[in-house]
Amino acid sequence: MNHTPPIPLPIEVKESGIHNRGVFATRNIKKGEFIIEYTGEKISKEEGDRRVDATNKAHRENPQHAFTYIFELDENWDLDGDTPENTAKYINHSCNPNCTFSITDARIMISAARDIAAGEELSYNYGFDLDEEYEEYICRCGASNCVGYMIAEEDWPELERLRAKKTANP
Ligand SMILES: [Zn+2]
Repeated sequence: MNHTPPIPLPIEVKESGIHNRGVFATRNIKKGEFIIEYTGEKISKEEGDRRVDATNKAHRENPQHAFTYIFELDENWDLDGDTPENTAKYINHSCNPNCTFSITDARIMISAARDIAAGEELSYNYGFDLDEEYEEYICRCGASNCVGYMIAEEDWPELERLRAKKTANP
């Protein structure tokens, strides 16, 4: 099987307005264009869960500690993107992202969700589930529609209900 990632578009990694480092477009990108593959180590879900727990623990102890780079491939497999080659790991989450990802044959491809201008920071929605740990994933994307956590958009209504419940019964 050929695991060579396709050539990414010209992008650069530098200080981000959102969180630590980010990835920036160095030329205009058209909606739908492939940008970069998110590569990493394919691991079992069990190992993925173990690494996520360890990272969350480190993050609680030191908020500067990076979030996990583990991506859910399917119900059996995860991909740990914490490797030096994986430039895509520096793309930040946003509640109003300009990129999107798709998973085909256990490969994660990131492409433009809309036209992107040279110099713009790239972002996509990490799509985390609204599980018992969602409060660990605080979002500081700064978008006007930011929901405060890195939660998949389909879970936003549920997040809204949870918060309303919390406000009613703190
Ligand atoms: Zn946000």
